[in-house]
Amino acid sequence: MSRLDAALQPHYEIVLARNPGEAEFHQAVLEVLESLGPVVRKHPEYVEEAVIERLCEPERQLIFRVPWTDDQGRVQMNRAFRVEFNSALGPYKGGLRFHPSVYLGIVKFLGFEQIFKNALTGMPIGGGKGGSDFDPKGRSDAEIMRFCQSLMTELYRHLGEYTDVPAGDIGVGGREIGYLFGQYKRITNRYESGVLTGKGLSYGGSQVRTEATGYGTVFFTEQMLAATGSSLSGRRVVVSGSGNVAIYAAQKAAALGAHVVACSDSSGYVVDEDGLDIGLLQQVKEVDRARISAYAEQRPKAEFVAGGSVWDVRCEVALPCATQNELDGDAARTLVENGVLAVAEGANMPCTPEATRLFQESKVLFAPGKAANAGGVATSALEMQQNASRDSWSFEHTEERLREIMVGVHERCAAAADEYGTPGNYVAGANISSFLQVADAMLALGVV
Ligand code: NDP
Repeated sequence: MSRLDAALQPHYEIVLARNPGEAEFHQAVLEVLESLGPVVRKHPEYVEEAVIERLCEPERQLIFRVPWTDDQGRVQMNRAFRVEFNSALGPYKGGLRFHPSVYLGIVKFLGFEQIFKNALTGMPIGGGKGGSDFDPKGRSDAEIMRFCQSLMTELYRHLGEYTDVPAGDIGVGGREIGYLFGQYKRITNRYESGVLTGKGLSYGGSQVRTEATGYGTVFFTEQMLAATGSSLSGRRVVVSGSGNVAIYAAQKAAALGAHVVACSDSSGYVVDEDGLDIGLLQQVKEVDRARISAYAEQRPKAEFVAGGSVWDVRCEVALPCATQNELDGDAARTLVENGVLAVAEGANMPCTPEATRLFQESKVLFAPGKAANAGGVATSALEMQQNASRDSWSFEHTEERLREIMVGVHERCAAAADEYGTPGNYVAGANISSFLQVADAMLALGVV
């Protein structure tokens, strides 16, 4: 049953009609609109001036063909997208995803989330997202490079440090950003460092960017627990996924004294009751680019469960860090029965609406992705700052900035939830706080 205010129902129906078949986008819009009832009752101008309607329509949507040649000399073809969603607060900012499931609905959901996440960081960045249905699994470095070069040969004309600044996401890490930046530099004949973030440290990258999303998720979790007089120390933690976000969430949780016992990939999960060996996890995933089962093969006491749900593993803190809608109502029920205290979304929208509702009804602390994983894009903005000032900061300084930013994100969410009568509801707090900031900027900028 929807919790949508009657004044917002027609706006949601317009989104459904304008964007048929884009289920993930509909889900992301509904989640935000469900929080905004008290806001539009207090500020009817947001409806009267069509701010909600404008917010739900991307400023620009690009779809283009990416032809490339594989190692056998065959021509391959993929489709790529860039959705430039909202630039009221700054240049479009958001990652690129390479995964066979990518289509316009996924890119729009991610771009829409990005608007609010970026506002929550308090930094001057708008929202956008992109990607391709290209599957990098099993592709050689040379194939990845040719694909990235072909994609950038079209995308470059839409980018710029004051226009649109992509970064990584699923399937796009340091290697891909390097190839994309190299091609941008070649085509434009400009060393415009601030046009992409997630760059390598040798050519304009920032310390902590690789770790930032996972670390930030754990910093946010720490704040949520601290607000109830609790902490991560000694807590049993389960992480889903074993990519960029998952690895560094596990690393920081362990560093703060938690016992991280499980992680996963799309083929199954690993339980290691001795606590995950993060160094081995990095070797398997980042260096060997192997499957998570290879981790268990090298740790005699660890067990690999093929095809199972990582949420069957008992934990007090759950950090879903893989992909959208990976944690459903059944998984949420299992987690609640097993005594989970806190759930923080390292991934974007990993919990289904039913799962989120269950956590909230069961008084589990619940942090939505747009708040909990904002540390990644925040550190991207710090990378842009360093690029603009031709500076590079130490790891310690950058991590401290990230921590301060996550404390600020938590404070903004908590304050908005209190002000609008839903104390402790971080979903409402995140949506309301960020909406107000973006909506006020849109009103100030006129009808554009
Ligand atoms: P990676 O590509 O590094 O890792 C993704 C992980 O999730 C892999 O373990 C992958 O397993 C698993 N996964 C992906 N798709 C599926 C699926 N359909 N079913 C089950 N498992 C899946 O991506 P990131 O760690 O960068 O991103 C993870 C999440 O975090 C995404 O939701 C992303 O949008 C979000 N995020 C990322 C940020 C960043 O800075 N990287 C910033 C903010 C949010 P397998 O290898 O088997 O596919």
